[in-house]
Amino acid sequence: MSVGINWSDFNLNSVKGPIKQVIYINIESGCSNEFVRLPLMIAKGSNDGPTLTVLGGVHGDEYEGPFAVRELFEKLDTESLNGTFIGLPQSNPPATKYGTRKSPIDNLNLARVFPGNKDGTITEKIAHFISKQLIDKSSFLIDLHSSGTHISTPTLVGYDGSEKGVNNGSKESALSFGVDVIWGHNSLSGGRSISYADSINIPWLYTECSGGGWLHIKEAHLYAKGVFNVMMKLKMIRGEIRKVKPKFQLFGDGDMDESITASVSGYLVPKVNMLSRVTKGHLLGEILGPANELLAKVKSPTNGVVVLIRRSAAVIKDESITFLVTGESP
Ligand SMILES: [Zn+2]
Repeated sequence: MSVGINWSDFNLNSVKGPIKQVIYINIESGCSNEFVRLPLMIAKGSNDGPTLTVLGGVHGDEYEGPFAVRELFEKLDTESLNGTFIGLPQSNPPATKYGTRKSPIDNLNLARVFPGNKDGTITEKIAHFISKQLIDKSSFLIDLHSSGTHISTPTLVGYDGSEKGVNNGSKESALSFGVDVIWGHNSLSGGRSISYADSINIPWLYTECSGGGWLHIKEAHLYAKGVFNVMMKLKMIRGEIRKVKPKFQLFGDGDMDESITASVSGYLVPKVNMLSRVTKGHLLGEILGPANELLAKVKSPTNGVVVLIRRSAAVIKDESITFLVTGESP
């Protein structure tokens, strides 16, 4: 069963369980009386328990998170569910429609505008709705990203690496998720869903995987399994977590938009593999000109592990090349 409702009329507290329902939230797009329809997949169990919000598709060119949210929702049984699962398979419908990172309506990046603005543009309104109606009422937030069309990362889970994250279960949940790479952060750039959750003391995780603009089904299943593990940890569902010891426990900043900048325009040839351990000054890539002349070398600014590699060859002067090297947990 699915219903449509105006965003100002939605109230999570009025959803009575047990219920499994898709609710379409209508938000004015700002374009000639049109609405954006934000699909919420709500499963509320027979028993009380935590509220978990899982976002997919914050960027419209990422497909594993949306697939995992749908898979999770389909598999949940309200009879045995404790608490409430809220899944958004398309957190940013205009961007999803066109397969773009930013919204084609206002050119904003949803992952940079949280907690949004009720009276702002459509992306800010979506962020406001997710923040105030969902994150504020959640016990835990998971934001399922993947690296999008132009960049690549290993499959990883990011967590709150501060003392707070150790105490509120963020780190423990990352260790339970079941992936080979976990990445702790003790500071976050503003405007992300997780930075808003962090600011109001709601524990969080996010994920990344290889991207490229198509769906990696194996990673999508891994995401769903990882969220189920977190739900077991939160005692929302029963089951035993099969723990996988991560091969890489990374630590450091994780802003994908704040990596190394191109000194010249040209085309990029990466010279490192994903998860290579490099030292400061190590050659990460070369920027070549039309006749293969070497225009610039891209060197690592620090010692660490390569977690982000640009996959689009064309680079433009002063743009981010999106190589990112981060440290490891001691
Ligand atoms: Zn993303």
